[in-house]
Amino acid sequence: MAELQVERIPALSDNYMFLLFDPVSGTSGIVDPADAGPVIEALERHDRSLDWILNTHHHADHTAGNGDLMQRYGARLAGPAGDHSRIAGMDILLREGEAFTFGSHKVDILETPGHTSGHVSLHFADAGMLFSGDTLFALGCGRLFEGSPAQMWESLSKYAAMPDETIVWCGHEYTLANARFALTVDPDNPALRERAREIEALRSRNEPTVPTTLGLERRTNPFLRPDDPSIRRTLGLERADDIEVFAEIRRRKDSF
Ligand code: ZN
Ligand code: FE
Repeated sequence: MAELQVERIPALSDNYMFLLFDPVSGTSGIVDPADAGPVIEALERHDRSLDWILNTHHHADHTAGNGDLMQRYGARLAGPAGDHSRIAGMDILLREGEAFTFGSHKVDILETPGHTSGHVSLHFADAGMLFSGDTLFALGCGRLFEGSPAQMWESLSKYAAMPDETIVWCGHEYTLANARFALTVDPDNPALRERAREIEALRSRNEPTVPTTLGLERRTNPFLRPDDPSIRRTLGLERADDIEVFAEIRRRKDSF
């Protein structure tokens, strides 16, 4: 497996930014810089410059640091083609089916609309890592600001071909609230109950719950489990299709 070093940098109240370093090529990057200050501090600590800024979507809590970092380091900006009018200064427009090259890594771009219409996910398949932005969270998924449940379900389904071991770096530390909600729709899932206990313990010590893995999400995240008979029974939706069950879980989470 090709190495990609990732450093998780907390920002704002509950965002995560991810500092990337490819040791083979010496290429460095930042995913979703909410705030330039902590990124500059980390780069100075490593005595590194910045080659790339990668944005998953246009929201300010993922892009507000772009300008300062571009100016300071001459970093190039790659972001969703669908957001070309909403993110200033993009050098590379990311589209599904067109690979992006980060140092020695080929990055597969997935268009994953739902949270926003232009949202993309970045899959470093050779490193076994997925940067899911605000599409998939640990035990949750993004709010549907610019998309339908059907669209978000289709987006999440694009991760289906990736191996269980895939490490998922998501944009927010929402896991504790997500766990409490997940237990209301999937109360009898032993893997979820155990994970919820671990999350309560981690967060009580103010420790991060990100990254997660796709395998763990598949076993415990209700938004990836609309086909689960027990969840369907709890929701009274035994005969509905997956999109209807997904939509009902999302609806309940919105008012939880
Ligand atoms: Zn967002
Ligand atoms: Fe966000």
